[in-house]
Amino acid sequence: MKHLDMKNDLPEGVLAQRDTGLYSVTPRMPLGNITPEQLSVINSVVQEFDLPGVRVTAGQRLKIQSIPEDKVRAVIDRLGAVGEFCKYYVQVCPGSASCRMGMQDSLDMGARLESRLNALDLPCKLKAGVSGCSMCCAESFVRDIGLVGKKHGWTVVFGGNAGKRVRKGDVLADNLPGDEALELIDAVLALYAEEGRKGERTARFVERVGIGAVRAGLSMD
Ligand code: SF4
Repeated sequence: MKHLDMKNDLPEGVLAQRDTGLYSVTPRMPLGNITPEQLSVINSVVQEFDLPGVRVTAGQRLKIQSIPEDKVRAVIDRLGAVGEFCKYYVQVCPGSASCRMGMQDSLDMGARLESRLNALDLPCKLKAGVSGCSMCCAESFVRDIGLVGKKHGWTVVFGGNAGKRVRKGDVLADNLPGDEALELIDAVLALYAEEGRKGERTARFVERVGIGAVRAGLSMD
């Protein structure tokens, strides 16, 4: 059986499930939130196309999976705006809005970060984690970009990865007000966009150039 050409035919955001002829799509769910209307669209797509259901991903999204090849485009059309592709996903914890441990408003910070990230064009995929306190429920130290809320502001972490070669991210700064934390993230991602190799995650980028060079590039020496 000839499957869809990965590079040329697949709509953005659709992934092949190995060589099974089945595909999956993960609709955008900003900050892990989903409205009743969006949920209703996803539910009707699953039922209309007789799909087995959805899976909750580690990144707080609902993955619609086991879509037969001949139904991929129809599923994408039916999802419409709900199936919008999200380039860079931000994982957040509930933060001070509803967690008694929360020191900072991670939901608001995550929303601000996500809108900035999705305007960028980076060398590789990027994951971010925004945690409202040092418990780090959004896994901020093993994300490309991490934010951790403290009593007096935000800790900014860069270059973490939870994959095959685990790397704990480096702390670039502590106790920054929200605006300054986002400005520092803009600056370090501009450096990564300029000097990172295509397909190189931030963890591998930091290992190659050294965190000292990253700090020097940010004039943090
Ligand atoms: S990181 Fe802290 S604020 Fe966020 S959910 Fe965990 S304990 Fe609560």
